[in-house]
Amino acid sequence: MHTLRFFFLFLFFSISKSLTAQNDEQPLNIIVIFADDLGYGDLSSFGHPTIQTPNLDQMVVEGQKWTQFYVGASVCTPSRAALLTGRLPVRSGMSSDNYRVLFPDSHHGLPSNEITLAEQLKKANYTTACIGKWHLGHQKEYLPLQHGFDYYFGIPYSNDMDAPQSVLEEKGGYWGLITDPKNNQIENFQVPLIHNNTVIERPANQHTITRRYSEETIRFIKNNKDQPFFIYLAHNLPHVPLFASKEALGKSARGLYGDVVEEIDQGIGTILKALKEEGLDKNTLVVFTSDNGPWTVFKEQGGSAGPLFAGKGTTWEGGMRVPTVFWAPGKIAPGIVNQIGSTLDLFHTFSTIAGVPLPKDRTLDSHDLGPLLFEKQKASRDHFLYYRGTQLYAARLGAYKAHFITQGEYGQFGDKKTHDPPLLYNLNHDPSEQFNIAETHPEVLKNIESLVTEHKKNMVPGPDQLKDRGVK
Ligand code: MG
Repeated sequence: MHTLRFFFLFLFFSISKSLTAQNDEQPLNIIVIFADDLGYGDLSSFGHPTIQTPNLDQMVVEGQKWTQFYVGASVCTPSRAALLTGRLPVRSGMSSDNYRVLFPDSHHGLPSNEITLAEQLKKANYTTACIGKWHLGHQKEYLPLQHGFDYYFGIPYSNDMDAPQSVLEEKGGYWGLITDPKNNQIENFQVPLIHNNTVIERPANQHTITRRYSEETIRFIKNNKDQPFFIYLAHNLPHVPLFASKEALGKSARGLYGDVVEEIDQGIGTILKALKEEGLDKNTLVVFTSDNGPWTVFKEQGGSAGPLFAGKGTTWEGGMRVPTVFWAPGKIAPGIVNQIGSTLDLFHTFSTIAGVPLPKDRTLDSHDLGPLLFEKQKASRDHFLYYRGTQLYAARLGAYKAHFITQGEYGQFGDKKTHDPPLLYNLNHDPSEQFNIAETHPEVLKNIESLVTEHKKNMVPGPDQLKDRGVK
């Protein structure tokens, strides 16, 4: 009898310990660092031969490097909506066939009935900050403070926007302005810098913006160290036009693009140092990733997808597979993970960490990565769906990816083409998507088609939030 009681007590403590494996005293603090247009091949730990990212490389050594990690869309606005809601952006209407992203004259943004990560974590008393690029609606009703964030400091959309008409006329339009690095002057891009709900600087000084985002993050950590916090640090760079501080300029063997990436990495070093100084490094999860693949049309000003084909704007691997690191020393077992994961999964994963139930009144596209992060068990995600606008272009199941439609972007990688039968690649054997094996693998195509049929049964696209633009 006594032995039995001891056994049940032991069982009880084992279960409660595993449920709270990541919650020693209070839930883990969470920092998501999101680069803009950084390619799969742009970090030294992901194979770049000349860009030096020692701080991210150290995170890779101490944490988990994910080699098959995807974003929910291959351009800024829908990719951010996916990360913050755990839902394919087509469901929230943040993915459109009219425009690919929001612009300074767009009327709408992320609908208020969407539940963001910030709102979700606030249910567990996290204090929340958005620092950096928002791009989910710049009208006041759509800004971060109206979406669950306690604090905002950043540029509300892309750093290539708001060029004055006179500048556009003089430089030969947007493409003339943006393709020549000599035009990288802050006055040519009249983007606002917003503090909470108020514009505090215009044009934002983009030379110092990366450093200021890192400093704001450290300030927020120090001011909120006594309660759990969630920081969403979304850098505006290395999206073109490229800007670096004078301390970073000319330092990288990769040129200006390298200077920009290395300055982001240097800022990450200062953030990790601050966590250590405050004694928070053993209770903070830091996730680093990028919002989409490299903007290759800008040649030396754009990044590299490494071994992956194509880049930003496409549903090829180079557009949607991004370099990703999870870091939480003492909590996460270090290693290289080549299972499938996605920014869509952060919603479920962080909800579990914080002990907040998932919303039941909507469809989520989010899987819990916790078992793989904290217990080295198998991940729950075995597939990924590649949308462009409101259309499903490709689907991955296990090692295999079928393309139903392919389409390049920005004048690269080919015109829109429908494939019947679909193109089929084994991504484990052929990450560059070079060898179509559809003909010899009909059973694989059948399985992927069943996955898609099942998925479509439960797909209700939200009203298009990107389509309305211009003077109201
Ligand atoms: Mg982007």
